[in-house]
Amino acid sequence: MNDSSLPTPSLHVPQIDLSAQHRECEAALQAALVAVVRESAFVHGRFVREFEEAFAAYCEAQFCVGVGNGTDALMLSLRAAGVGQGDAVVTTPFTFAATAEAIGHVGARPLFVDIDPQSYAMDPLALEALLQRCQPVKAILPVHLFGHPADMKQIRGLAAQAGATVIEDACQAHGARWQGQRVGALGALGCFSFYPTKNLGGLGDGGAVVTSDPELARHVRLLADHGQARKYEHSLIGWNSRLDGIQAAALTVKLAQLDEWNARRRHWATEYQRQLCDTSLQLPGESPNVLHVYHLYVVRTPRRDALAEFLCQRGIMTALHYPQPLHLQPAFAALGYCAGDFPVAEACARECLSLPLHPHLSEEQVQWVCESVREWDA
Ligand SMILES: *Cc1c(COP(=O)(O)O)cnc(C)c1O
Repeated sequence: MNDSSLPTPSLHVPQIDLSAQHRECEAALQAALVAVVRESAFVHGRFVREFEEAFAAYCEAQFCVGVGNGTDALMLSLRAAGVGQGDAVVTTPFTFAATAEAIGHVGARPLFVDIDPQSYAMDPLALEALLQRCQPVKAILPVHLFGHPADMKQIRGLAAQAGATVIEDACQAHGARWQGQRVGALGALGCFSFYPTKNLGGLGDGGAVVTSDPELARHVRLLADHGQARKYEHSLIGWNSRLDGIQAAALTVKLAQLDEWNARRRHWATEYQRQLCDTSLQLPGESPNVLHVYHLYVVRTPRRDALAEFLCQRGIMTALHYPQPLHLQPAFAALGYCAGDFPVAEACARECLSLPLHPHLSEEQVQWVCESVREWDA
C-alpha cells in the first residue's frame, strides 16, 4: 500500500466490547465471585437458586432452571416436552446452528420454514403452509432472532391447531417483549443462553429454561442433573448440564443492569435509524407491539461485502449473522434441502451485515459509523 491509498484516519469501533461492560460492574462482580469461593458454592447452592428466582421473576414466569448453556436449554426443553426419535420439529434455517443441532440431539428431524424479511423470525404464512403438508409436528421452535420477537400470536395459534408444543429460542432476546409480555414466557418453554456476548452474558458458558408449568420445570431439572431429584436417586438417564455458582453469581449482578443496557442498545439503534434511514440500506424494523432488544443491529444490502470492507478500513468491525443458512450446511445435508428452498433466508445470508452495537458504544463511535456508512453509500 502506498501513501496515497492509506485509509482515512479511523476511530476503532469494535463489534462488541465486553471489557467496557465489565468495568461498569467490576466491584460488584468481584464481591460476588469472592462470595462464591468463600462458600465453595460452585455447583448447586444459593447463588444458583437466587439467580433462578430473579431470572424467573424478570421473565414474568413461574420457574427458571439454570443449565450448562443455551444449546442444552433447547435440547433439554425438547426432551422435557416429549420430543424424541423421529419426531418433526419446525424451525427456521436462518439462525445460529445450535437451534437445529438441539433438535438433532434428541433424535428429531428439523423441518425448516422460511423467515419473514422484516423481522428475520419465522414467517407464520410459511409455517401455516408447512403444517398443511406435514403432520404430525411435535414442536415448533421459533427464534427471536437478533432480539426481535417472532409473531407469537400466529405461531401459538397454528401450534395449538397442530397439537404442537411451542418452545422459544430466546437466546438472543433477554428482556424483549411481545404485546407487553417478556419473551421466554410466551411458549410452553423458553430457552436462554448466557454466552458472554449475549444481552445477558456470564463469564463463560451458561443457559436457562424458563416455564410456568411446574411439571415441565421439574422434568428439565431432572434431565439436567443426572435424572436425580434427590442425591443418588436416579429416576431417568439424564445429563450433567447445570448452571454453576460462579456464573449464577455473576449473572445476578448483571441482571440488575440488563434493562439499562437494553435501553442503551435501543438508544443507539434509534440513532442508527435516524442517521441511516435515507441511505440505500434496509434497516431493521420493529413490528407493532414489540420491544426489540437489538442483540445485533443487522442491515441489508446487495453490496454487503464491499460495505464490510470499506468499514473495516475505517476501523469499524462488522460481522456476518449468518453467512450460510442451516439447510445448506454440510451438517444438515442429510435433511435433503437444496439451494432455492428458502429464498428469504438465502438472500439474508448473502446481504446481511451486523454493524457494531452494544451498550457501551460512545456517541463519537456511533457518529463515525454513520458518517462512514453514508460516505460509502453516496
Ligand atoms: C447463542 C445461541 C444459541 C446457543 O447458546 P449457547 O449458550 O452458545 O449454547 C442458540 N440459539 C441462538 C439463536 C443463539 O444465538
